[in-house]
Amino acid sequence: MTDLTRLTIAEAREKLGAKEITAVELTDAYLGAIEAANPVINAYVTVTPDKARDMAKASDTRIAAGRAGALEGIPLGIKDLFATEGVHTQACSHILDSFRPKYESTVTQNLWNDGAVMLGKLNMDEFAMGSSNESSYYGAVKNPWRATGSNADLVPGGSSGGSAAAVAAFLCAGATATDTGGSIRQPAAFTGTVGIKPTYGRCSRWGIVAFASSLDQAGPIARDVRDAAILLKSMASVDAKDTTSVDLPVPDYEAALGQSLKGMRIGIPREYRVEGMPEEIEALWQQGIAWLKEAGAEVVDISLPHTKYALPAYYIVAPAEASSNLARYDGVRYGLRVDGKDIVDMYEKTRAAGFGQEVKRRIMIGTYVLSAGYYDAYYLQAQKVRTLIKRDFELAFNAGVDAILTPATPSSAFGIADEELASDPVKMYLQDIFTVTVNMAGLPGLSVPAGLDHKGLPLSLQLIGKPFEEDVLFKTAHVIEKAAGRFTPAKWW
Ligand code: GLN
Repeated sequence: MTDLTRLTIAEAREKLGAKEITAVELTDAYLGAIEAANPVINAYVTVTPDKARDMAKASDTRIAAGRAGALEGIPLGIKDLFATEGVHTQACSHILDSFRPKYESTVTQNLWNDGAVMLGKLNMDEFAMGSSNESSYYGAVKNPWRATGSNADLVPGGSSGGSAAAVAAFLCAGATATDTGGSIRQPAAFTGTVGIKPTYGRCSRWGIVAFASSLDQAGPIARDVRDAAILLKSMASVDAKDTTSVDLPVPDYEAALGQSLKGMRIGIPREYRVEGMPEEIEALWQQGIAWLKEAGAEVVDISLPHTKYALPAYYIVAPAEASSNLARYDGVRYGLRVDGKDIVDMYEKTRAAGFGQEVKRRIMIGTYVLSAGYYDAYYLQAQKVRTLIKRDFELAFNAGVDAILTPATPSSAFGIADEELASDPVKMYLQDIFTVTVNMAGLPGLSVPAGLDHKGLPLSLQLIGKPFEEDVLFKTAHVIEKAAGRFTPAKWW
């Protein structure tokens, strides 16, 4: 039998339905692959083999009884940010040491209700803050991709680096991820996988450890566009436990694949042509434009004039919300406690020992911009800028644009412990330059692999859509995927 871990979700679904393979066989194939590869890749921070086998057995029973769900028997990896009942949920932090929730996040519950199998929890930047997965308490994740002729380890991007690496290295059929400023789309781009951050409110945030609540959204990372469509359909729902989730029917995203692009207008925002961007990325963008034109879409230049303020505004709004959300980790209710001479001393010692450097930086920035005297100058200004960014998109859509095409990242994957990036946090923040606008505006954004650079590393394009028009992104991305082909790393691990 061929390697079962190479099957896409759609292919596995067919073979499971036809009873050519069992869910237990498929799950065992993944567990074996994880055991062999994880000591090198470090994508999983915990593996749940017993739970996985139990869930797979139950799937086989349901398949035999003709009661298969939409994801029946499909083995998935779950980002450590999602609460999973009785299982490691620490946002890859030290401060949440040994936290095992007594509840399940709505998104993961939706997946299990559809029959999916949990393989374990995936590595990520601590509290989802980062673009390289290097801020994890559990150490860096290695990108399964390497530059041609090189043995240097590369980052898989972040914060959903474990999710992206696990999908690219065939250590799960698909993965959950979250995106506050780019954490689904950038790691997907660095690993040749497909990632979509849906519209704010499309997936419930209930049971997801909060980073910046007005920006956070869950979404899938998958091997191809179809698999991403299948996963999002199961993940999305309205939820009484999250008042920001939206009560709109979840369409059959898969049905959008293969639909014509005739009559569609794709906007190309001139502000996304940034200084110092490699020529290859410009060339990739032009290639994407050509593919969409060939498929019958009309391509128009647009302007999103407030783009240049998005990154600075994001790095005010996101830390502000984070500093408030992370105030709850005080050593009393969750995880780590470092004893002190009195309660204040205990709080301080716990937080000093429990948070990593990047998280502390965000808490300090956030506390500063929310403090009396600075609130108006920073936080309020950033909120106003956010409204203007949102309006830029609204004006473009009102003028008849159906979707927007941009590069996904300003570079391909960079090295682990890259000196330049490690020494200057602002350089790391620039990773999000093409993605944060989408979170600030609450829009759906998808990153789809479109080519390789001169180093042989994957590069992606980003599609941005109107609120709740994820289906339009899927059909457009499918055209790019068909033209570009799919990209898988050569196995070295
Ligand atoms: N890299 C961005 C940050 O560190 C985005 C992270 C995310 O989307 N969770 O804030």
